[in-house]
Amino acid sequence: MEITLESTAELLLQHANIVVTAHIHPDGDSLGSMLALSAYLTAAGKNVRLLLDDEIPKLYGFLPGINAIEQPDSRKIKADLLVILDASDLERIGRVKDAVDAPILNIDHHVSNTKFADYLFLDSRSAATGEIILRLLKFLKADITAAIATSLYTAIATDCGFFRYANTSADTMRYCAELIDCGVKPHLISEELESKPLSSIVNLSKILETLDLFYDGKIATITVTAETMADNESTEGFINYPRIIEGVEVAIMFKAADNATCRVSMRSKRLDVSKLALSFGGGGHAKAAGCTLNGSLAEVKAKVVAAAIKELQGMKHG
Ligand code: 5GP
Ligand code: MN
Ligand code: MN
Repeated sequence: MEITLESTAELLLQHANIVVTAHIHPDGDSLGSMLALSAYLTAAGKNVRLLLDDEIPKLYGFLPGINAIEQPDSRKIKADLLVILDASDLERIGRVKDAVDAPILNIDHHVSNTKFADYLFLDSRSAATGEIILRLLKFLKADITAAIATSLYTAIATDCGFFRYANTSADTMRYCAELIDCGVKPHLISEELESKPLSSIVNLSKILETLDLFYDGKIATITVTAETMADNESTEGFINYPRIIEGVEVAIMFKAADNATCRVSMRSKRLDVSKLALSFGGGGHAKAAGCTLNGSLAEVKAKVVAAAIKELQGMKHG
């Protein structure tokens, strides 16, 4: 059932034991939104647990309260409400789905949302789930502490590519200005997020050698093999290199998850890649989407590139 922001606030206030989670392969928006909402709920006297079925990239170690996030185990957790943030389908939360027995409130901004939750607040015009959380906290007259503001600024700024992507709105900028008034230091957050270990830059140079162009240079791909990523280093932001090449309409990164599966990240200028990702069982936004496919890197690449070419042909004629 889709509900209003007011009802979302009421639902949170009504319950005492709340589990907060978000999608696997965590990013700035999912983590920042989790930490900001849980900081508010804890201050409001709720009993809150933060669960995530994935490792937290070291990059986000500076976010206040990040160490409170636990991985689910085989034990069932009883709660009054499971809040799922920034995830458009139930598979995206991994094992948390089976670990928690409670009604689900989903707060999200993905156009591809499958409306799986008992209660859904969906606003696909928001650049980030963090924007929705800020609206919610303002509605609840929450004290936006510097810690909450840091989490929300990280959530919003990362999902709109630091105000460069098409989802950046006047509200995005206004919200971030308000967060700066609450104590955020944008340059310090950028410094944290930009800094990479030396090995990451060495890996990047290898990954750029895999650059491949298709369909008259309108599709650019990069491939990340298991060997290049032997130390499980983050590839955050690498998709930007094929994306910024002149004439490229769709950028795709293929990353070996294990021997039998690959993660696919897609970025586009005009084409709606959320549909392309959805056709492979994934999802996302019109201009940034992803999916996970069974098969070797070569098989998955052939399949996805062929589908992207078809979509681009359709766009030309449509
Ligand atoms: P990224 O390429 O940065 O991993 O993801 C880009 C966008 O697509 C994000 O908004 C992310 O939530 C979404 N996305 C990526 N992979 C998947 C997936 O497997 N399923 C769904 N539903 N969304 C995805
Ligand atoms: Mn996300
Ligand atoms: Mn998001």
